[in-house]
Amino acid sequence: MIPINHPRRESLLIRERLVDGVREGYVALQGLIAHGRGECFDYLIGETTINEALNAERAAVAALLLARNPVISVNGNTAALVPRDIVELAELVGAKVEVNLFYRTREREELIARILRENGAREVLGVGDDASCVIPELFSERRRVSCRGIYVADTILVPLEDGDRTEALRKMGKTVIAIDLNPLSRTARAASITIVDNVVRAVPNMVRIARELKAKPREELEGIVRDFNNDENLRKVLMYISRRLAELAQNHIVLEFPKD
Ligand code: ATP
Ligand code: MG
Repeated sequence: MIPINHPRRESLLIRERLVDGVREGYVALQGLIAHGRGECFDYLIGETTINEALNAERAAVAALLLARNPVISVNGNTAALVPRDIVELAELVGAKVEVNLFYRTREREELIARILRENGAREVLGVGDDASCVIPELFSERRRVSCRGIYVADTILVPLEDGDRTEALRKMGKTVIAIDLNPLSRTARAASITIVDNVVRAVPNMVRIARELKAKPREELEGIVRDFNNDENLRKVLMYISRRLAELAQNHIVLEFPKD
């Protein structure tokens, strides 16, 4: 039990969800390591959605709404953390949902598909024989994708992606939207739009933004995408983190404990 007033309660509850996912067999052990790395970067940005992340989320939603064939790729961590929001976002922007795993087993695929369906998904791609198309130049199990989904998609949202696949998808000419708390990862640098935010904040934000942007004319959405520059935005994220750390260093507060 995590005490109600524990200062890191929220973060500990999220960890518990992933640990449960491991126990239930759909989160990979490596997913826990990936989450730990994400937590570290979240600490550095202050565990909030910074302006640069919000701008990227807006550009990402506009790109998804403009896409002819958008797909949202789901792995174990994403299914554990934000299953309902993923399904809602897919619904709002008209995207397909596809399971795609680095450590692919039939059991994990099916468990994740079931979670998505329990959260309202009508169709889940990428399970079993459906993942029979191959992304060139990729050697992990993530290269197997649905011929009706990621393979033919023009725009793909990949929460918690790995660098190799992001690069391979870009080489296929696709627009890749990544959610990654590490602004220095290869994924962050290779994506077309990088959202440096925790998926637990980013995806619900995107649902809200999608409700707002859905009614806007195409030209306005195109303007939002055109005005967004990923390199520039990532530079601003790094500036934000370095400024924040410098300020914290100046105000250097040490936790006080009673002396015995
Ligand atoms: P790359 O392959 O892109 O160079 P990596 O090998 O360092 O990155 P992976 O293990 O492939 O990283 O993927 C995990 C990534 O997901 C990490 O960069 C981590 O910061 C990020 N991450 C983990 N949990 C979250 C989360 N809840 N929200 C957003 N990002 C997260
Ligand atoms: Mg990697």
